Amino acid sequence: MSEPQTISVSATISPATTAGLVEKTPLERYQPPAKPSLVGLSRAQLTEALASIGVPASQRKMRVQQIWHWLYVRGARRFDAMTSISKDLRATLDQHFTLARPEVVAEQISADGTRKWLLRLPGEQSLERPHEIECVYIPEADRGTLCLSSQVGCTLACSFCHTGTQRLVRNLAPGEIVGQIMVARDRLDDWLAAAQRGTEIPAASTAVGAGGNGGQRVISNIVMMGMGEPLYNFEAVRDALLIAADGDGIAISKRRITLSTSGVVPNIARAGAEIGCMLAVSLHAVHDELRNELVPLNRKYPIKELLDTCRNYPGLSNARRITFEYVMLKGVNDSLGDAKALVKLLKGIPAKINLIPFNPWPGTRYECSDWERIEQFSEIIFNAGYASPVRTPRGRDILAACGQLKSASERLSARERIALRAMAMTD
Ligand code: SF4
Repeated sequence: MSEPQTISVSATISPATTAGLVEKTPLERYQPPAKPSLVGLSRAQLTEALASIGVPASQRKMRVQQIWHWLYVRGARRFDAMTSISKDLRATLDQHFTLARPEVVAEQISADGTRKWLLRLPGEQSLERPHEIECVYIPEADRGTLCLSSQVGCTLACSFCHTGTQRLVRNLAPGEIVGQIMVARDRLDDWLAAAQRGTEIPAASTAVGAGGNGGQRVISNIVMMGMGEPLYNFEAVRDALLIAADGDGIAISKRRITLSTSGVVPNIARAGAEIGCMLAVSLHAVHDELRNELVPLNRKYPIKELLDTCRNYPGLSNARRITFEYVMLKGVNDSLGDAKALVKLLKGIPAKINLIPFNPWPGTRYECSDWERIEQFSEIIFNAGYASPVRTPRGRDILAACGQLKSASERLSARERIALRAMAMTD
């Protein structure tokens, strides 16, 4: 097994010296974008943006189509690359807007090919320190899955989750969610031009290739399972996923987009109706008492209410099953009785149960179940007629596995925090 690598992606970043550590651009050099980015605007918002710079009404529909194509099919990063648009309009667009994605601060590559990017976003106020989120790419034999964040931090504090130890800083805007896809496609060279010229994909993403692998897409699936609870940022997540699924752009089928929730009951049906994506539910326990501890949101929306809502998820069928996530915690939720109770609980719901070996993180009080126990647990579920894949932990060496994400800014030392606060006050 080789050591994970950290690659600096900006001239101002020096390579990290210790595996697993991310070295960031010094914050004092951070410049928030001066102009708004067009990334993540809906077609209607893009139309308004064009109207605001004087594009005649008769041309707007066509121009939106052109910009959409350049952005989401070809991955244009500058307006002057948009050669089907007149030079004058390109110049005007450039005066008012950018095509900026979140700034990539660092990239880590796991020994298993998983990649994690640390991305920097502007603060909400002009003098506020920038925020950081993480985004993970997981290559597999038959797919390449991108795991996106929906919030900076998370309010829900699930006790087995590293992200849950980071307070909520803010919701992400649609452009910051779509921006994660753009960054990943940039870094993996997953745009149309790459497919056409037969580019070899970067060495570490060994599974599905772009042009280098018969024109298949490097990113074939999206999961909203990174930092944050997506259903607590519903509108932005919905708008971003509709852009990801748009057939004239990024065009990832809604069947390949999965939204994972810890159980925000009032927004589950909305997700089915307004997004139409696949649903995953972080269940993790079969009794309210334990689930209250593992997923504190359970106190508000207990198991019965959650499962009743799941039974009515729009479009649910044997071909479109709900995935129930179940993290395997040694001596906590992994008894064979728990497995039998799980089967009983899910009766009548077209479901798949994903068993997730717990990914330890510094300071956690939990341990991963023994492998033998995971297999016995899985067998009970399988014998009851449910698919029960055990999710192979990916990217553990770079803390990119499930429940391990936490932005590096939250790992700053007390001294760094004081310095940052001082900077914010004197800037
Ligand atoms: S598991 Fe999800 S909802 Fe729970 S704390 Fe972690 S990021 Fe938040």
